[in-house]
Amino acid sequence: MTPASKEMIIRGLGVSPGIAIGEVHVRESGSIAVPEYALKGAQVAKETHRLDQALKTAQRQIALLKVKAATMPSSAAEEMGFLLEAYEQMLNDSRLVRGAFRRIVDDKINAEAAVQAETNEITAGFAALDDSYIAARIDDIREVANRLIRSLTKSHVKPLNTVPKGSIIISEDMTPADTAQLDPKQVFGFATVLGGAQGHTAIMARALGLPAVLGAPGLLGAVKSGDKVVVDGDQGRIVINPKPSTLAAFEAKQTEHRRRLGRLARLRRQPSVTRDGTEIALGCNVELPIEMPGVLTSGASSIGLLRSEFMFMNREDIPGIEEQYKGLRDIVKAMDGRTVTVRTLDIGGEKLAQSITKDIGDSAQSALGLRGIRLSLKKPELLEDQLTAILRAGAHGPVRILLPMVSTQQEVRKTRDVLKKLAAKLKRKKVTIADPLPPVGVMIEVPSAALTADALASVSDFFAIGSDDLTMYTMAVDRTDEQVAELYNPLHPSVLRLIQFTTEAALRARIPISVCGEMAGDPRFTALLMGLGIRELSMSAHALGPVKQRVREIDLAAAQNRATVIMAQTDSGRIAMLLDDFNSLV
Ligand code: PEP
Ligand code: MG
Repeated sequence: MTPASKEMIIRGLGVSPGIAIGEVHVRESGSIAVPEYALKGAQVAKETHRLDQALKTAQRQIALLKVKAATMPSSAAEEMGFLLEAYEQMLNDSRLVRGAFRRIVDDKINAEAAVQAETNEITAGFAALDDSYIAARIDDIREVANRLIRSLTKSHVKPLNTVPKGSIIISEDMTPADTAQLDPKQVFGFATVLGGAQGHTAIMARALGLPAVLGAPGLLGAVKSGDKVVVDGDQGRIVINPKPSTLAAFEAKQTEHRRRLGRLARLRRQPSVTRDGTEIALGCNVELPIEMPGVLTSGASSIGLLRSEFMFMNREDIPGIEEQYKGLRDIVKAMDGRTVTVRTLDIGGEKLAQSITKDIGDSAQSALGLRGIRLSLKKPELLEDQLTAILRAGAHGPVRILLPMVSTQQEVRKTRDVLKKLAAKLKRKKVTIADPLPPVGVMIEVPSAALTADALASVSDFFAIGSDDLTMYTMAVDRTDEQVAELYNPLHPSVLRLIQFTTEAALRARIPISVCGEMAGDPRFTALLMGLGIRELSMSAHALGPVKQRVREIDLAAAQNRATVIMAQTDSGRIAMLLDDFNSLV
């Protein structure tokens, strides 16, 4: 495909609002450091299994790209189709694959080294032929080999924190860990071929205030590094090589967006109360320490969700107690008496941390696998170290402990036991810790937890509704999959009934309840959540202004009446209409 030189628009999912204008930085495969080591006896079978798994992963990636390619304009779709089919064949039964397996068995070397050695041999033979068609095939072989090696080493392509100021990253995919590396001072926005609107990549983009468009087919073939580009996170568009008139229109939009944010920021000192005087507590979600300045100036009353995963991503080792403690202590101190709700590690699913998940295999990557509190309870040392760090940080200000992915009472009881024993041990050793012990709460983000909210309330000090995972698991729609993004709907009656049931259970048990999923940060849902009984919301710092503005417009009694009407509906389209109608009136 020839990169565009005239203006071209590619569409995708607008996942993080705002307009970014900058220069394309295409994230290439790049060269990957390939580890090489000799194998002993039983390791050979393990390595062939790893290569097998990497082949399956690569095949899945190509299959996904084929579906995407089919939605491109017909000539591009055809060309892309041929290329992807060639990749597919190479991943099935090719000299590359056969040779790599043979090298593992005969030469007793690890899988990534075997793929690299075989690739080098094949391409060296081809390069000697000095033919442009063959040269292109060499690139194809390298691309396939790199895909395999990346999957085997779980290596990220090129660090993203060294790009020039004003870059717009264009990539096939971005993991949450990749996104965590972005510095908003350098990178103005990003766009990818793959990815859904509700995954953590999208959440992090919003948290960092970076306009982003995900799930944009045809993107990679249409741009090259250095192109001027606009990422329109509001409308889900990427405009490549914009005409001067288009650029001027986007610059005007960008200015308007910034002005609006400025106006909303002025609300920070205003109280978060409804027209009839009910206070709604607005807290912040934090995924990265880089967000803290924004949190401190947002007027937030707390940190309602500290996603502790950031401490474990993009590194080879697991942080020790001291490092975790210092990281948490700084945040607790900065909040100066306002509560910090620290969620224990929610690694697994799409949020991977190599040092922890490398020995778990596929289960860590499955949304239904060893994730969140399940993983922490399986690795007691990990849980104990983290709880110790939280207990110690709790000596500097109020903290609460939040458990992710809870599906049974047993998980809460076990964690409480660990916490109690740890606290007793630390006290014996005269270590200063939170006193009294921090409240222990539960994320309600799995249907089984929501449906047994009354039982969980009896073992929990508070609830936080994770509406993102709750929607995903209830609707059986992967948050990160752009193919089913349209089915992801928090206004589906099933999701709303679970939120209602959970809220009522918490109110009956007289324990605090908040919502900390993305619904909490979207003013569209504010009145409905309040009408259902929610009085505490936690969201990214950027969302606080718009949500506070909405809170201050709402009459609580009217919101309750509308929630009652909405909860009697069975059709999500009608629910959306009733909600939007209410929002347009009040
Ligand atoms: C959620 O699932 O709604 C949530 C807040 O947790 P996370 O987005 O970190 O999975
Ligand atoms: Mg969740």
